[in-house]
Amino acid sequence: CGIVGYVGHQAASQILLSGLQKLEYRGYDSAGIATILEEQLHCIRAKGKLHHLETKLAGWDNPARMGIGHTRWATHGKPEEYNAHPHRDERERLAVVQNGIIENYRDLRIELKEKGYTFRSETDTEVIPHLIADLLKQQTTPNLLEAVRETVNRLTGAFAIAVVSADFPEELIVARQQAPLVIGYGDHEFFCASDTPALIPHTRTILTLDNEEIATLKPSGVELYHFNGDRVRRPPQTLNWNP
Ligand code: GLU
Repeated sequence: CGIVGYVGHQAASQILLSGLQKLEYRGYDSAGIATILEEQLHCIRAKGKLHHLETKLAGWDNPARMGIGHTRWATHGKPEEYNAHPHRDERERLAVVQNGIIENYRDLRIELKEKGYTFRSETDTEVIPHLIADLLKQQTTPNLLEAVRETVNRLTGAFAIAVVSADFPEELIVARQQAPLVIGYGDHEFFCASDTPALIPHTRTILTLDNEEIATLKPSGVELYHFNGDRVRRPPQTLNWNP
């Protein structure tokens, strides 16, 4: 139901947690975060309120400088920890959070199962990490942006996603189709969220993704593309109102 993401020079997990707190008003039944540290993916999820996730994170001094977070409002699959986001590929190298519904997930799930992929959740979302992993495997030069772009072109429904991978430790990818997603610009750090209140403590320089847009956020900057691969050049806006 709510997505947050961060890439930059500060410790990510606290930024992600406080961002999720700002999105609590949207409602949720479980929550989770995934961070990348020293080319390893760490994913922690918990059923129930955010303080359950906080309890699991307590005492974990995680200096990771990038990651994604999610509060889930279950639509497909029970509100249990194994259905909570982020969802990972089989090798646990990449993690995905999704807000919305993937309408054609049943067909994709059958296709991926036939290819030998094992599913660990009942959600519509888990097809996404497997599709990305499958495309990355086929590329001669692995390109996360391209794999995510091809994946979102295969999805139907209203959704917004954020993706991180331990094999691309400086790259956070976001995409939207009929579900909100905003990007916040800092100084060599970038934020993303389903809604601006999660960004306001950090920045007022904000770019709203349009439908069928995908962006890559790196400490060096943001690049924006259409789902068809065309580069989009649109500057962020400065908010001068209080959301
Ligand atoms: N449809 C997804 C699920 O049930 C995401 C729901 C949401 O937006 O929180 O896992």
